[in-house]
Amino acid sequence: MEVYTETLMANKRLATLEVRVGDLLLGNFNPIRIQTMTTTDTMNTTATVEQSIRCIEAGSELIRITAPSKNEAENLLNIRNELRKRGYTTPIVADIHFTPNAAEIAARIVEKVRINPGNYIDKKKFELLEYSDAKYLEEIDRIRERFTPLIKVCKEYGTAMRIGTNHGSLSDRIMSRYGDTPIGMVESAMEFLRIAESENYYNIVLSMKSSNPKVMIQAYRMLIHNMHEELGHCYPLHLGVTEAGDGIDGRIKSAIGIGTLLEEGIGDTIRVSLTEDPEFEIPVCRDIIKKCCPLQTAPSREGLANSQNPTNGGNFSAINGDTAFEENQQHSKIKNIQKSLSFGEGFRVRSFEITNIGGKHVPVVIADLSKIQKITAESLKAIGYTYDAEIDKWSISDLAADYLFTGDKILDFALPGTLKIITYCDAWTKATSKEKYFPIFDEVQYLNNGIEKSLVMNFVTIDCLAPSDQSIDVDKLFGKIKKDKTAVICLSSANKNVVESIRKIFLKLADENMQNPVIMICDSADATMDESLIHYAVETGALLIDGFGNGISLGHHFGNKNVAADYALLNSIAFGILQATRTRISKTEYISCPSCGRTLFDLQETTAKIRSVTNHLKGVKIAIMGCIVNGPGEMADADFGYVGSGPGKVTLYKGKEVIKRSVPENIAVAELINLIKENDAWVEV
Ligand code: SF4
Repeated sequence: MEVYTETLMANKRLATLEVRVGDLLLGNFNPIRIQTMTTTDTMNTTATVEQSIRCIEAGSELIRITAPSKNEAENLLNIRNELRKRGYTTPIVADIHFTPNAAEIAARIVEKVRINPGNYIDKKKFELLEYSDAKYLEEIDRIRERFTPLIKVCKEYGTAMRIGTNHGSLSDRIMSRYGDTPIGMVESAMEFLRIAESENYYNIVLSMKSSNPKVMIQAYRMLIHNMHEELGHCYPLHLGVTEAGDGIDGRIKSAIGIGTLLEEGIGDTIRVSLTEDPEFEIPVCRDIIKKCCPLQTAPSREGLANSQNPTNGGNFSAINGDTAFEENQQHSKIKNIQKSLSFGEGFRVRSFEITNIGGKHVPVVIADLSKIQKITAESLKAIGYTYDAEIDKWSISDLAADYLFTGDKILDFALPGTLKIITYCDAWTKATSKEKYFPIFDEVQYLNNGIEKSLVMNFVTIDCLAPSDQSIDVDKLFGKIKKDKTAVICLSSANKNVVESIRKIFLKLADENMQNPVIMICDSADATMDESLIHYAVETGALLIDGFGNGISLGHHFGNKNVAADYALLNSIAFGILQATRTRISKTEYISCPSCGRTLFDLQETTAKIRSVTNHLKGVKIAIMGCIVNGPGEMADADFGYVGSGPGKVTLYKGKEVIKRSVPENIAVAELINLIKENDAWVEV
């Protein structure tokens, strides 16, 4: 695989073509646009207009509305007129699945149509088909015939188009030839793109969404590579993790998927898909942009007037990539990393094992309670350990941290068996149990042979920006660590481009053939926990997802907040990041659609209900989808599916197989539990 983009290591934003959506310009270094999608019934003009206004007031620069049939497509005119009457000129995007007729109507009314190449022309039957090359070309001709009328309408009306591929809804034709893969997603879009270009239509945006951030990231990277190779230019990219779910986990998944790419200079517009009211998606979009593109001010309606200035969005080039270990063979490094990125699910950069860190072990979580004055047994509750004094026993949750950093404190109570302690090296010499306690050193202390070390495991902190002492010989430091089978590297960075800095260190370690395990230490001083969550998810998730790192430790400057509550949240975020990167599965995974005008039940309420009775099923993936039209296709790799199939009716799936049809909604959750039990995936609490 070739280099997909040199923006990966060069602090540059990816150059893309400029696309006009009404008065809004996308791509070509314009600011990254924020968008969302309504969840109301499109035939309910008032509800849709009012929800659109709430989203616009919150900062959405495009509003997508579903148009499942000709009726809804026609009603877009009423919605558009009412919005304009009330003074809102925000471009509208019609969301189309399966219905070319609806698309051709909508393209005459709104500023942009989104089509899904997996189902625009093909009806998905989950069949594995055999295609000769000639038969495949015939299929492409069939697509051309059905797709060209829409292109002609878009050209005539100046309407933009998004070719929006979804991992879960690839056509049977693509699935048969390429499988359920990122390259299949790319080819699904390229087939439509080639037809559009042959008609000289270029007002196109592309997306490659998946509920699995790893798949989504791979697909965008491959798409960029293929566009450069085949077309010589790159279309603007709409980023999103689909069916991300709700709450912390939905935000973490979205931040990892979208943030990883934005950090690489990729992305022209973003949508965070949460199973929540759409206006709640907007602050998350803002926080992600603020974290990944700090020089882009949050978009406001007034600010849009300036959007035609292509210098507004070129933030990445303005950020210095100054790191202590700058390499001159940057290009070869990009190729090196590209090799690792082309590995599939489960790939980890090789490391040796020290106790339970590195090797084949899942990444560990190190909780930092060093700022607590007096750490007691009660303090450990926040990190997954609950002590019952009556029976003198610890109960350990699935989200129990593996290590605890106490600073200079030796604890005066008996610890749970699985928890180990890390202290500063001075304090460590006073610890009686050298099996339970391990020391952490800065570079100077580590290089000082006069300071006692553990015979088992020593943590060594390295600041990626520069060693803590400028007199440190970096080669000597790395040389010593390389030979030390007890040394765990702890990386942190105060650089503006943390992901890039730490990625460079990982590449240096690979170049030096160093296989010591690595912990990523990520501190946040953000003003709110919402911003911190995005910060942690981007800075650690972007590296974990490519196979780097053997553990994470999240720290926060708490100010006056409730400390105990925040430690629990930090611990939960750490495990959420590992789950979203699929590096450590410790809880139930929910894939729930954001809902839209097709939704057949209260998705938020149902998701909460299902979550409350299944959240102890570690590793089980449950999809909760609003409609039978797209739901089954978009459940991705869920183990069980709960899909709205008619008013008050639900269809239950095991994988992609329908098990129970038309289950009355009032007993559907109980039936889902029965289905999980019948398949031996249930455990009692
Ligand atoms: S799966 Fe959900 S978001 Fe997608 S079309 Fe159906 S109801 Fe709408």
